[in-house]
Amino acid sequence: MTRLIFLGPPGAGKGTQAKVIADSLNIPHISTGDILRQALQQQTPLGVKAQSYMDQGELVPDQLVQEMVQERLAQPDTNSGWILDGFPRTVKQAAFLGELLQEIKQNDERVINLDAPDDVVVTRLLGRGRKDDTEEVIRRRLEVYRSQTAPLIDYYSQQQKLLTVNGNQSQEEVTTELKQVIAS
Ligand code: AMP
Repeated sequence: MTRLIFLGPPGAGKGTQAKVIADSLNIPHISTGDILRQALQQQTPLGVKAQSYMDQGELVPDQLVQEMVQERLAQPDTNSGWILDGFPRTVKQAAFLGELLQEIKQNDERVINLDAPDDVVVTRLLGRGRKDDTEEVIRRRLEVYRSQTAPLIDYYSQQQKLLTVNGNQSQEEVTTELKQVIAS
């Protein structure tokens, strides 16, 4: 059973790689960013609440994303495993997830830290052209990553759940390294 959390700065290639690996393992790829963008597009109550945070590169309040993830992990397709991409992003979310996984007896998750230097991720994000990929918002997202999400590297390392993969190589090379790490 494969249960993976993808951690790393915006632009490290988490989304792309998570999709490839999830497809190859035939398990759902759960991206909180994708779920939020869809909610925003459909202007659901969740989307309306999340919009201003997302537009500014800030984190959506923990409670909102936590409920979203809890609901998603209750879907039957997650019985075969899953990849979480973009969640958790704060220590509070990680603690919530840890408890939830224990409750649903899925607490054998591993965490992949997909690492890449700032100049590389900024160049990638600028080339991506998403609505929240303006230079100012990118800078803010990186700050938020460093202050709120990067502490999770230590958090999961202390729990001996952390695996690190170098995101600063070609897409194919990253995929190959990921597959090796996951199989080991
Ligand atoms: P992403 O596609 O993962 O880069 O997420 C895009 C935006 O959605 C982020 O900049 C946040 O505003 C919001 N978001 C996604 N995941 C989370 C999360 N786990 N906690 C808080 N906000 C999130």
